Amino acid sequence: MKLNVYEIPVKQVQGVRGKKPEELLALGITTVGELLDYYPFRYEDYTLRDLTEVKDGDRITVQGTIVGIPQVQMYGRIKSRLTCKIVVDPLFITAVWFNRHFMKDQLVAGTEVVLTGKWDQKRLHLTVSESEFPGKGSSQTGTLQPVYSIAGPITQKWMRKTTRQALEQYGDLLIEVLPQELLDRYELMSRKQAVSLLHMPGSVQEGVRARKRMVYEELFLFQLKMQAYRALNHERADGVAHPLDLPEVRAFVRALPFVLTDSQKNVLAEILHDLQQSFCMSRLLQGDVGAGKTVVAATALFAVVKAGYQGALMVPTEILAEQHKRSLDRLFEPYGIQVGLLTGSVSDKKRRDLLASLQMGLIDIVVGTHALIQEDVYFRSLGLVVTDEQHRFGVNQRSILRRKGMNPDVLTMTATPIPRTLAITAFGDMDVSTLRELPKGRKPIKTYSVTHDMLERVLGFIRREVSEGRQAYIICPLIEESEKLDVQNAIDVHAQLQFAFPDYQVGLLHGRMPAADKDGVMREFSANRLQVLVSTTVIEVGVDVPNATLMIVYDAHRFGLSQLHQLRGRVGRGEHQSYCVLIADPKNEIGKQRMKAMTDTNDGFEIARRDLELRGPGDFFGTKQSGLPDFRLADMVADFETMEQARDDAAELVKRPDFWTGASYSILREFLRREHIFDSELLD
Ligand code: ADP
Ligand code: MG
Repeated sequence: MKLNVYEIPVKQVQGVRGKKPEELLALGITTVGELLDYYPFRYEDYTLRDLTEVKDGDRITVQGTIVGIPQVQMYGRIKSRLTCKIVVDPLFITAVWFNRHFMKDQLVAGTEVVLTGKWDQKRLHLTVSESEFPGKGSSQTGTLQPVYSIAGPITQKWMRKTTRQALEQYGDLLIEVLPQELLDRYELMSRKQAVSLLHMPGSVQEGVRARKRMVYEELFLFQLKMQAYRALNHERADGVAHPLDLPEVRAFVRALPFVLTDSQKNVLAEILHDLQQSFCMSRLLQGDVGAGKTVVAATALFAVVKAGYQGALMVPTEILAEQHKRSLDRLFEPYGIQVGLLTGSVSDKKRRDLLASLQMGLIDIVVGTHALIQEDVYFRSLGLVVTDEQHRFGVNQRSILRRKGMNPDVLTMTATPIPRTLAITAFGDMDVSTLRELPKGRKPIKTYSVTHDMLERVLGFIRREVSEGRQAYIICPLIEESEKLDVQNAIDVHAQLQFAFPDYQVGLLHGRMPAADKDGVMREFSANRLQVLVSTTVIEVGVDVPNATLMIVYDAHRFGLSQLHQLRGRVGRGEHQSYCVLIADPKNEIGKQRMKAMTDTNDGFEIARRDLELRGPGDFFGTKQSGLPDFRLADMVADFETMEQARDDAAELVKRPDFWTGASYSILREFLRREHIFDSELLD
């Protein structure tokens, strides 16, 4: 067994002495492997240029012959300007050095020099930053030199030298990890060659090919982990194989007040299929706002309850929990299914009763916020957990359940349609179902972007809609990082609108209200006892009031695209024509692009795509709980095609029996072992 570069301390590299190991530690480098993985983020180009082909202001390297006598001007004792005429065929140029008067003696007429610096086309001046005399010692002339992201006392020069030294001493230990068939398929160079060329590319093309190889490797290993996890999960038979009564489920669907869309039927079939298998379902259900995810989840919960198990529906806000509780009650009442509600604001006594009923199995389905999956909540037989709206059922939650001896199927619903590349990255370990169509008969929401000076007309528009019996949401300006100011805004706007609409009931909703009050306001609005609802973004997700047809967003340019689309999704849920009015004075290009995207399209997938373009993947999910890996080289947007290839390749590989046994894959299996893929406790 050859030595592993990740096990060799970096101080074994010649020249890493004294304080250097410590300084490298500050960059996160302790081993030779980590040093070699520390790729440059760009290259300095020292290839020789032809002066007839460069542009004013370029940083260039040229070779020439000294012809004039150097001139020095001193400014005080240290500052100086040294100039000298040089012939760089076919031009006479002036080379200028600042504060390097001591170089004067080296500039002997007839001597060849290689100069790097900034080119001034008009005056034919080159302001020199680096000079070399060919034939004297080692040369960077003609090369691309790596530029590392460094800090502290470490210099670029030292990093270059040390990395080169490490490659020389240990380059042979860089073993291939990719299977030969993949190297062949994509004509990828070996790992050793790629690492070495990334640090020292002979040409731009070589650097590009080296990067291509390492990006593929990075994405492939990531996807292999995801796909192996998925494959093993499907094989492990420690989930619940629900004995579904399909005719009964069909009868439930037939009794719904509407006919399911084809998309809903397909997705439901996928879910029902998974529920009957003995593996743990881990499925992402994505669909645009208003696509009808709730009823799909409700049907799955119905099926599980009829099979003798309990279900849980987890949502991000109490308002949403209340709303789901009401609609599930309505749906399940005829079947005698008991639905409980568990949120942070349920009284202690109620909570105790509820927990007891859950444990005894007297309650079939519980709807709630995070309070649901706490240590003291026990189920008699939890069979399905549904999480609604953009929070993942994560690591900890699953292991909490597992510790309680439960291994339910999990359905995660998201209304933020996720571009495919991101879905296979962030949710690559899950199976994905997508609702591709909206229920029939929906009228597309008309969206307008207006400026603040049109506020009067907007108020007139609200009056017209409300006088026709419809309802309106007014979303208040978002003040970054300050919920308190958001609330103040909402209170101010509420006062103004009460004044503007004395004949109508104008409600107020914000995150700092006690939960019972919030719920009360929502209930009033649902029942049309409030015609206008002024709110902060607490209603962003999930809220469903079909009679509301008008969504007004103040200061819309402050909101993200996905958020605006979510807000817009609160209307257009019933038979009436709905409108979304974005009041905005975008100050920058991104703001303008957002308004344009919103007025251009109603399609959440298109919105998501543009959002991704405008913000980048990290922000797309919100950086904190993004669940996105931090790739060293790969870029999720720019390298999306490679990501898809890597995923397909990884998925295909883990399906092959010889992958799990064959000698040629032992390195990949070792990689998976190190990533704890086989360790079921750490799986989640
Ligand atoms: P979302 O996917 O945004 O969660 P909901 O589940 O809230 O969407 O559904 C939006 C609205 O559409 C609800 O009022 C729901 O009752 C209704 N709905 C769902 N499916 C259908 C359908 N197939 N036909 C008509 N209306 C439907
Ligand atoms: Mg929903």
